[in-house]
Parts: sequence; structure tokens; C-alpha cells
Amino acid sequence: MTPVDLLDLDGSLTEEERAIRAVVRRVVDDLVRPHVAGWYEAGQVPARELAREFGKLGLLGMHLTGYGCAGSTAVAYGLACLELEAGDSGVRSLVSVQGSLAMYAIWRYGSEEHKQRWLPAMAAGEAIGSFGLTEPDHGSDPASMATRARRDGDDWVLDGSKMWITNAPIADVAVIWARTDEGVRGFVVPMDTAGVTAREITRKMSLRASSTGEISLDGVRLPADARLPDATGLKAPLSCLTEARHGIVWGALGAARDCLETALTYATTRTQFGRPLAGFQLTQAKLADMAVEWNKGYLLALQLGRLADGGRLRPEQVSVGKLNNVREALAIARQCRTILGANGVSGDYPVMRHANNLESVLTYEGTSEIHQLVVGQRLTGVSAFT
Ligand SMILES: Cc1cc2nc3c(=O)[nH]c(=O)nc-3n(C[C@H](O)[C@H](O)[C@H](O)COP(=O)(O)OP(=O)(O)OC[C@H]3O[C@@H](n4cnc5c(N)ncnc54)[C@H](O)[C@@H]3O)c2cc1C
Repeated sequence: MTPVDLLDLDGSLTEEERAIRAVVRRVVDDLVRPHVAGWYEAGQVPARELAREFGKLGLLGMHLTGYGCAGSTAVAYGLACLELEAGDSGVRSLVSVQGSLAMYAIWRYGSEEHKQRWLPAMAAGEAIGSFGLTEPDHGSDPASMATRARRDGDDWVLDGSKMWITNAPIADVAVIWARTDEGVRGFVVPMDTAGVTAREITRKMSLRASSTGEISLDGVRLPADARLPDATGLKAPLSCLTEARHGIVWGALGAARDCLETALTYATTRTQFGRPLAGFQLTQAKLADMAVEWNKGYLLALQLGRLADGGRLRPEQVSVGKLNNVREALAIARQCRTILGANGVSGDYPVMRHANNLESVLTYEGTSEIHQLVVGQRLTGVSAFT
């Protein structure tokens, strides 16, 4: 029970959802919280070890069915993302990219052979996946991608480069999106294929407890069956992004909750001018406004989760959630930092780490501007993308 749940929204969760959440909260307390400040500072995270532990708990691809996946509800998956991101956005990203991007792409669009080969190992955390859509010169506009896949006899040959790819330096397999003569197609690319190299992107000031890389594809020869048979056009990778964005709607609430709880504890224990910071009206106004926004975000996430579980969730509804919840989580993190004063900039407290992480979360999986355009198009019927 968190003191910020003013509306008793936890009360609307099922027993099973609460139980799953409790398990994830415990694993974050045990495996992530004691170490994450150090990982963040070092810019390194033991992703393989974490993936195996998360795999044992069924957190990888947990909302998918079959092939060793847990088949949980969308709300349960969202709650897991919330608890993971209360630890760190980078740790939640590891799980999101694995489950909602790489595994979902194979589960939804792959052949039976792809599924048998990769999904059980990925669900167990024995194999790590990545998802390569963004390129150095093509981010918000993936339709203009330059990576090409051409036929050579029965084979496919891929050339190009993918940038800002989560998990790439540690991945066993990448789902790579490339332009072909028939349009955009997806390919399952084992990372040990000749011509594939992954370089770690260093000097990140955000999401430092997450491995991010550039994938270079230099004459990468793949058999005909490397292509995801059911993925035709850009709508395929976009559908994967809709899956992952739903997790982010929830995850951002976790980072914000951790900031709020930290600020609440700090404000009630630190004294200035002879009284706790919590006793100043200005501090209470900040805390009240933040808690109100957090509860609105939780309501929004629950509504989207229930729509997803009813099979009725539309992409622009996910845009509403991603736009609002990440934007508000970032505002909450920054405001909480002010309550902690100088300690707010210290790595001894999680607040600045969350705020820095949320800068990446605001940008990836569609920037806030792109989600505004999605919502704007829905409202007006006019596309303002170009
Ligand atoms: C830590 C991290 C991890 C990532 N992981 C992955 C991953 O695993 N896989 C993957 O494929 N990608 C990944 N990304 C990439 C991410 O999805 C892109 O950064 C994002 O889509 C934005 O693209 P861009 O950075 O090229 O920015 P740009 O597209 O160049 O945009 C720059 C600015 O211009 C604005 N802009 C662009 N077009 C418009 C428009 N039409 N109207 C108004 N404003 C506009 C944007 O909103 C933004 O503010 C990751 C990024 C980060 C930071």
C-alpha cells in the first residue's frame, strides 16, 4: 500500500494482479534497489543475470501465450512494469524490449520455427533480444529508413545501421526492420551472423543502467526463412511499439511513485526553520499536486489496461497514456528533486536518476511530440506529421 494511492485504486485490482505485483516488488527490492545506484554510476548492468531471474518469475513476454510465456493479463503486465520502473527505467526497458518488442514481434509475425527457436529461450532469459527500427538519420520517421534487404537467390542480404537499440550489445538475436522492393519487412537476425556488429553507445546521461547500442549490418546474408512471414509494411513494427508503449504508460508511474515516496519521507524527516519540510504549505501544495497527477495517471493506466484485456485498445489511446504519464512522471521527478534540496542531486537518493531516465522514456517509443500528433490526428482527422 503506497500513501500516494489517494483514490484506493489498488482496491480495484484483482487478487491475482495484487499477487503478481507483490512478487515483482519483492524481486525489485532484493535484486535491483540495493545495487542500482552503483550500476547507474558505472553505466553497467548485469543484464544477463537479471534476465535469468526475471525469466524464472515469468516476467519476460509475460502477456504472451504459449512457448513458455506466462499468459498474464495486460493489467498484470502493466503492474509488473510499474514495479520494475520503481527500481529503474533501465531495468524496465530490459524487460519491455525483450517481451513487448523482440518477443512480441516473433510471437505475432514469426514462423513456427522462429517461435520454437527463440521464444522459450527468451521467456527463460537464456536468450536476449533487441528490436532495431531507429537509424542514425531516421528516428521519428521510420518510413524513411535506409537499411535495405535485397534478394540474392533464395537468400536475403541486409545492409545498413540501426541506432539507439536497447540491449543490442548484449543481445543474442535482433528483430531488424529493413526496406525491401515490396516495402518494409522484418528479419530475425542472430547477432553472431557474419557482418553483424554491435557497438555500445557510451556517455549516456540517462538510462545508464541499460545497455544501448548501434547495430551495423554489412552484407549480412540470411536464409529466406529469416524473414518474419506475417509482417508486411510499417504497421508491423508500429504494432510492436503499441505493445511496448502500454508498458511504459504503467512503468512511468513506478518511477514517479518512487520519487514521491522518497520526497514524502524526506519532507517529514528533514527539519528547517524549526519544523519538518512537510509542515510548510508550499511543500504540501507540491506534494498534493503531484499525488493528484499520479492518481490521474494510475486511473488512465487502469483504463488502458482494461481496454487491452478486452481486446479494444487502440493505438491513439496508448498515445494518450504515454504522452500524459511520461510527461507527468518527469514533472513529478523534477518537483520531488526540489523538495530534497541539495540531496536531490545526489546519487544517494533515486530522484535525479529517475528524472534523468525519464528524459529517455519521453523520447523513445515515440516522442511526446509524435504522440501529440497522433492524438491531434484522431481529434481533427488531419495528419500533421509532414
Ligand atoms: C535510451 C534509448 C533507447 C532506445 N531504444 C530503442 C530501441 O530499442 N529500438 C529502436 O528502434 N529505437 C530505440 N530508441 C530510439 C528512439 O525510439 C528514438 O530516439 C525516437 O524515436 C526519436 O527519434 P530521434 O532520436 O531520431 O529524434 P528525431 O526524430 O530526430 O526528433 C527530434 C525532435 O524533433 C521532433 N520531431 C520529429 N518529427 C516531428 C514532427 N513531424 N513534428 C513535430 N516534431 C517532430 C521530435 O519530437 C523530437 O523532439 C532509443 C532511444 C533512447 C534514447
